[in-house]
Amino acid sequence: MKLSNSHLAKVYEKVCKRNPHEPEFLQAVGEVLESLQTVVERHPEYVDTGIIERMVEPERFIQFRVSWVDDNGKVQVNRGFRVQFNSALGPYKGGLRFHPSVTASVIKFLGFEQTFKNSLTGLSMGGGKGGSDFNPKGKSDREIMRFCQSFITELCRHIGADTDVPAGDIGVGAREIGYMFGQYKRLNNEFTGVLTGKSMECGGSLVRKEATGYGLCYFTDEMLRAAGRSFNGARVIISGSGNVSIYACEKAVALGATVVAMSDSTGYILDSNGINLEVIKQIKEVERTDISEYTKLVPGAKFYEGSTGIWKVKCDIALPCATQNEVDGNAARALVANGCYAVAEGANMPSTPEAVEHFLESGVLFGPAKAANAGGVATSGLEMIQNSMRLTWTFEEVDAKLKEIMVNIYKKCANAAEEYGHPGNFVAGANIAGFLKVAEAMKWQGLTH
Ligand code: NDP
Repeated sequence: MKLSNSHLAKVYEKVCKRNPHEPEFLQAVGEVLESLQTVVERHPEYVDTGIIERMVEPERFIQFRVSWVDDNGKVQVNRGFRVQFNSALGPYKGGLRFHPSVTASVIKFLGFEQTFKNSLTGLSMGGGKGGSDFNPKGKSDREIMRFCQSFITELCRHIGADTDVPAGDIGVGAREIGYMFGQYKRLNNEFTGVLTGKSMECGGSLVRKEATGYGLCYFTDEMLRAAGRSFNGARVIISGSGNVSIYACEKAVALGATVVAMSDSTGYILDSNGINLEVIKQIKEVERTDISEYTKLVPGAKFYEGSTGIWKVKCDIALPCATQNEVDGNAARALVANGCYAVAEGANMPSTPEAVEHFLESGVLFGPAKAANAGGVATSGLEMIQNSMRLTWTFEEVDAKLKEIMVNIYKKCANAAEEYGHPGNFVAGANIAGFLKVAEAMKWQGLTH
């Protein structure tokens, strides 16, 4: 961490003191502050109005007990969270993650990042995030329903269509959103757009399912185009095989790429002929089982245990779409050594600071998560708009708006990077462009939180 600006250094020191056991949160804050050095020099008013100190402290953090009964009649207790990080630009907005690795630190890092990401979309959305250390893996459908109902029974008093609008994330898909929506409706006696990622029958938006993966490819395509390159004919690897990865694969192939490797938490598959996405969808979306099953269905494909090995597969473009810190320094060095010239993050903070530094130093085109994966929340924003207007746009209409938003995000990042002295550094560009809009809104609203 290189913070030469004394104000930023002091802010960071205080954040470290206040949140000593929250490494993911400190990592995310550190990265943003590092990008803001020229910004505070040009805008001393942000220091005077305490904008940065306020931005690194969530407006509200809610932690609660979630008790539920499993299929054996035994009471289980999990921990639920919601961070309402920043409401300067609109209602808090951000997904819910159900995964055993969820802690206060993870939720705060995600909520902090979300604030800047939502700002980049240009839509009216503040930043929030939530979830639980509940592990949906291996649970029956009835257990999932009981957990979701218990979780939302507490959370419902803190959210609302104009207050805080959660969505899905790891472990929370259409099924979980459905159970939570149903219970919210029952408790509040209202049918509103309180959650996004809803089914089409209940006010969902077309393209929401595909949005993060498609948006990632629209952003990457624009970044490649500006550098005189393209997806067409490129060899691509994608980590994960969940919602983001599947639709990133679909769009990358539609743009002319060959995706040769995908992974899950057990290992990765290599299929030099190009991954058969229908088989992946069947394994991960329908059967919800391990990716190794792929080799039983596709002759010639190979499975390797351990998910980190995927970064040693030779490729032109890498799209990390699984989880945080999955690309470390070694992985980044292997990618660069094998000729990879573009990396765009579908997951949140999948690259460690060391990996990011190596990509930037090596001249790799690097699309950071808060810009490159903003398509999901952008389409959630479009779902909120459709809910407010009580109408439904067609797939083509939503897809066209998504594409326009992602192209604009690329331009905002490139322009801010250029303007503040970091040409070609989209990490700095995304942080600066995202920050400026939130900072101006906070300044304009006076001291609120
Ligand atoms: P899913 O739960 O649908 O999929 C996650 C995938 O990642 C699964 O295939 C899972 O494997 C795999 N995985 C988990 N841990 C590892 C690991 N250590 N190594 C390799 N693979 C792993 O989640 P999403 O696709 O929705 O989310 C993925 C990432 O994208 C997250 O960082 C999320 O925050 C981010 N994101 C998601 C958005 C969305 O709209 N869904 C929006 C913006 C960001 P397994 O099947 O074995 O569990």
